[in-house]
Amino acid sequence: MTDWNIQSRAHACSTCEKAFAHKELYHTVLMAERAEFKRSDVCQACWEREFGDGVRDRKGFISYWHGVYQAPPPPEEAIQKETAESLLRKLIEMNDPRFISVGYILAVMLERKRILKVKEQIKRDGHRYFLYEHPGTGDLFTILDPDLQLNQLEQVQKDVADLLEHGLNAPQFQKSETTAANTVPDAEHPATPTEPQPTPSSESPS
Ligand SMILES: [Zn+2]
Repeated sequence: MTDWNIQSRAHACSTCEKAFAHKELYHTVLMAERAEFKRSDVCQACWEREFGDGVRDRKGFISYWHGVYQAPPPPEEAIQKETAESLLRKLIEMNDPRFISVGYILAVMLERKRILKVKEQIKRDGHRYFLYEHPGTGDLFTILDPDLQLNQLEQVQKDVADLLEHGLNAPQFQKSETTAANTVPDAEHPATPTEPQPTPSSESPS
């Protein structure tokens, strides 16, 4: 199971492949498929033909909703301040487990600002997942609840603040280049001594 991901709203029906028109009604079905939550966006005609109200009884059904398709806005100017949303998207794209807790806090912040809306809470393999929808773009965010303890919260909130302020360039978030560091012997655990050289015992009688 992927810990977190974003599944964008499709720009075309996943069944008949016809592109959605601006303001067209679409239907989204979320099904558990193998270890993933699989999202399908379908047009009204395909919805009636292939799914309909019986969808909730299908094996693997997780969630269903419908919405109104919005054609994507023209791209914004290149230089953009890091926001909680852009940061969360970046972290999910990096898929670095160090940022799971930060991602969770960012999602909560975005929910409070009404930028993300909780669609579902799912328990799976002993973990809790939140499925958030971004109503503006229709993107679906799967966020793992890291089950933060109170004594971890302060550090995570500090990390969030640092990342929003400095982005991923802050020194403490630079990925260490010396990942093999723990294989370097230290004083307490010296490396196995090299094979002792055989003492010259060959006092060859001359
Ligand atoms: Zn269709």
